[in-house]
Amino acid sequence: MQGGDVEARRAAVDAIPIRPASAAAPAPEFPWPQPHRAAMFLSFDVDAESAWTGGNPAHADRLVTMSYGGYEARVGTPKLLELLDQLGLKATFFITGWAVDAYPAMAESIVKAGHEIGHHGYHHLLPDPGSPFIVEEVERGLEALKRRLGVVPKGYRAPSGEFCEELRALLVRRGFLYTSSFRDDVRPYRHVLRDGSAGTIELPTTACYDDWVLGLSTRVSPRPILSKEEVLSIWTDELDEIRDWGAMVTTVLHPQCSGRPMRMRLLREFLRYTQACGDVWITTGEAIAGRFAEFEGAGRR
Ligand SMILES: [Zn+2]
Repeated sequence: MQGGDVEARRAAVDAIPIRPASAAAPAPEFPWPQPHRAAMFLSFDVDAESAWTGGNPAHADRLVTMSYGGYEARVGTPKLLELLDQLGLKATFFITGWAVDAYPAMAESIVKAGHEIGHHGYHHLLPDPGSPFIVEEVERGLEALKRRLGVVPKGYRAPSGEFCEELRALLVRRGFLYTSSFRDDVRPYRHVLRDGSAGTIELPTTACYDDWVLGLSTRVSPRPILSKEEVLSIWTDELDEIRDWGAMVTTVLHPQCSGRPMRMRLLREFLRYTQACGDVWITTGEAIAGRFAEFEGAGRR
């Protein structure tokens, strides 16, 4: 390391604040609706091709890379909607504005089936601190959901799973009820903004229920693909422990992964297992955030 590099590194290290990343109070324990003792926030991220172009716009001309995203509208999403219908389940679909504009019929079919629509950016751009696109991504996404679907979303999930303070404050100003991106708890809690004011309700995600890291491998994003038995073992262990804790899990499933035949088989088996438990409230983000808000309101009275 050159002398100047060491100095720059030291200045950056010295600038790290000595405070926890989150000022939120500990998540309160509150009862789930009877007869449930735990909850599953069943959610999907519908990125389509924006999953690929958001990180690298040059992928727009790489047609096979793009085709992984194209699978969502052609096969993955319709198949998942069919599965949810068969199981009698309602879920939340966080969808990018780009996917809504490129595939309006797919987006409309999700709404028509009675599922919740959440905000997931427009171009699926990483909300990195200092990014010049943070406001634009939120506004363009809101505009697309309203124009195409007549939807004003209550929930937001950050594209590529990153967040910053500017975004956290912006979402409050834009009236979002809840966000679902953080990894720091197993129960809902309320964010606290840097200035001490109240933020959105957070429904923390459960990293091991992100199907992307367990089963999607491409030329530009090579990963091991785990078998059904391996994934089921992870998913049921997490769920069973969470049931004992009386807490919640949040799935982060993508139609370009979980809409693949072998993954559907796995998801069907897992959802049937969860239903058979009989004590897990499988529902949307809006329902869980609403339950939290009710509890919080009762506590204040
Ligand atoms: Zn995404």
